[in-house]
Amino acid sequence: VHHPNTVPLKSSYFNYKIYPFRKAPEFAATNKQPYPVVIVGAGPIGLVLAIQLRKHGISCVLIDWKAQVSGGSRAVALTKRTMEIIEQSNVATCFLEKAITWREGRSFYRNRVVHHLRLPYQDDDKFEPMTNLAQCMMEDILVDEALAQGVDTRFQSALTALEHGAGGVLLTVDTPQGEYQLKADWVVACDGARSTIRRLMNLRYDGNSFESRFVIVDFKIDLDEPAGRRCYFDPPWLPGQTALMHKTPLGVWRLDYQVPESLSDEQALDQERIRADVRAHLKYIGVELPWEIEWTTLYKPNTLTLSKYNHGRVLFCGDAAHLLPVFGVRGMNTGVQDSINLGWKLAAAIKGQAAPQILDTYSSERVADARQICVEAARSTRMMAPPTRGHRILQQAVLSLALDHEWIRDLLHWRTSHPIDYAESSLTLVDVTESSFAGGPAPGAPARNARLDPANPKAGFLLDYFGPAFHVVVFGGDARLIGEAIEDANGLRRNGVAVRVLTVQHRVSPDAMRAGVDVALSDPAGHVSTLWGCIVPAVYVLRPDQHVCARWTAASKTRVSDAIGRALMSPVRATAAA
Ligand SMILES: Cc1cc2nc3c(=O)[nH]c(=O)nc-3n(C[C@H](O)[C@H](O)[C@H](O)COP(=O)(O)OP(=O)(O)OC[C@H]3O[C@@H](n4cnc5c(N)ncnc54)[C@H](O)[C@@H]3O)c2cc1C
Repeated sequence: VHHPNTVPLKSSYFNYKIYPFRKAPEFAATNKQPYPVVIVGAGPIGLVLAIQLRKHGISCVLIDWKAQVSGGSRAVALTKRTMEIIEQSNVATCFLEKAITWREGRSFYRNRVVHHLRLPYQDDDKFEPMTNLAQCMMEDILVDEALAQGVDTRFQSALTALEHGAGGVLLTVDTPQGEYQLKADWVVACDGARSTIRRLMNLRYDGNSFESRFVIVDFKIDLDEPAGRRCYFDPPWLPGQTALMHKTPLGVWRLDYQVPESLSDEQALDQERIRADVRAHLKYIGVELPWEIEWTTLYKPNTLTLSKYNHGRVLFCGDAAHLLPVFGVRGMNTGVQDSINLGWKLAAAIKGQAAPQILDTYSSERVADARQICVEAARSTRMMAPPTRGHRILQQAVLSLALDHEWIRDLLHWRTSHPIDYAESSLTLVDVTESSFAGGPAPGAPARNARLDPANPKAGFLLDYFGPAFHVVVFGGDARLIGEAIEDANGLRRNGVAVRVLTVQHRVSPDAMRAGVDVALSDPAGHVSTLWGCIVPAVYVLRPDQHVCARWTAASKTRVSDAIGRALMSPVRATAAA
């Protein structure tokens, strides 16, 4: 019988709630119908996925073996793209109420700044390049949203066994009141790095595990310094090693520092030794303030991924699918992109709008991303903690040269998590009119946010008008392009496909106000059109995860349905009005 810890974890900045165990209907043995989706793991990725599925109209059961959200030092930094997805999951405002944001960082080598990091930020970005919030607080907000969206959320419920076949999956769940079984058409393993489902299915990650170890210590201190990444190579208190310091909300700072090879894990985690290390670091940076430890953890970087994320009726998402180093804030940021990719595809497959093979593209698109991140993250990890003598010599050479030579400092650039382009995806269509765009988000790229009126901050942003649907965005006032797009989109809607039509033009015209247009936006200075590369009237089609699946400039009666049909891997046809 599963008995999770029901004593709230202790934290000086967060009140842990205990989510009660509720007896599942399956105990009464009356519920024999399979659920469309069971998600195992209510970590951040399972929660975002559950909310996404609900937004696409799919009900799901979400189980987690814990009774409370996660403890310990975990994710703190979210990228701009993650915040856009979090906004699509309804909770960006709640995150921002508690978060701090930042754009800059500095790397130091023996007391001197060797690199000044400036993360890209433009006035058209709604979110700052980085948003810092403790993972437990993110999960807390996401649980509330999942419950508000009607997700059947079952805490204190551990998945212990799973049988899967072509027809569905049978799960065994252990709880404080004993075991029960439930059936699902689809199961998504969001059960983290030590995934029970991965183990039960005998699947293994491939890739590299690094030998370097880092102590991660979160401590409370009233230190009034701006947020941002501070990286210290070879600080005098930790010769030959690397340390990182980050501000997180509510007066909590995080210090990550490399453990010398000569120390065992136990020695590295010795609380007295950690205290001495924090003291030495604070003294080195000239801080003399009282502080108190919150959490301590030992961490080893990995660049690992499954080679396939869909296995029949079982799908893998987040850390259960890949394990990435914290340098570059990649784990949760990557998992959130998995969940928005999977959410619409799984929903479309369940509704019968997409061919089931669409889930192969979830795997191919997201494995490609994870593999690219593994390469980039391995590079950062080798710079942070050189694994061999050769790498150390290279690191020292770069650092020494960086003291005086600007040109080499870019090698110290901290390549962070970034959204991938699905340019190579079979769902992406490159039209013959592609060359008539002057930039803008290319086929496969995520949508580009833009202020609707740079002169009026209250006008809002383009992505504020996007939701859980395909979006057809018609730029310029060409009545024929608008008319054809509306007609084609209306035909798809008649077949149940969620399509929203937006027009963006200098001044909203009667054409743009026709029935079938969901939003008619004015672009008085042509700002949005320019950012989207539209020098002539043009049409974009975006997938529900806001990646461009096609764009064109020539008139066509069927391009919208062609593009959406291709994205759904199904010959969805636009049906003419009766
Ligand atoms: C020190 C540290 C710092 C990090 N910093 C960052 C950062 O700044 N930015 C970033 O993007 N990422 C960061 N990460 C990574 C991030 O924490 C993970 O990528 C993220 O938690 C993955 O979310 P997940 O939902 O996939 O898995 P998890 O958060 O591990 O959630 C898995 C869930 O599954 C549940 N579960 C497991 N097994 C079962 C079972 N058998 N039955 C039922 N439930 C089960 C668990 O209780 C848990 O709630 C950091 C990680 C660490 C360790």
